[in-house]
Amino acid sequence: MDETQLRLDGNAAAGLLQEVFVHELTSARGACASCGAVAEVGAQHLYMYPQSPGAVLRCSACASVLLVLVQGGGHLRLALPGFMWLEFREAGAQAG
Ligand SMILES: [Zn+2]
Repeated sequence: MDETQLRLDGNAAAGLLQEVFVHELTSARGACASCGAVAEVGAQHLYMYPQSPGAVLRCSACASVLLVLVQGGGHLRLALPGFMWLEFREAGAQAG
C-alpha cells in the first residue's frame, strides 16, 4: 500500500474543521512560531484602528505577527502566519 491509497481530498476534513471553527477563539491557547511563547489569544496584543479593514494580532512577548484578519468585498480573510499551533478545549472536556 502506498500513500496515494491513504490520501483523501480536503473535503474529508469537513467534520474536523467544523469542530475547530465554532470555538470562541480568545480563550484558545497558541504558541508563537517565532519565540515559542504560549498564551491565550485574548492575552496577545491586537492592533485594530477605527474604520480599518482588519486587525493584526501580535505576540505579547516578541511582537511577531500571529494573526491577520481582513474584511472586505463580502469576504473575511484569515492568515495565521505566526502561530506554531492553536489549542481549543473540546466541548465537555474538563479544565486542566
Ligand atoms: Zn513571540
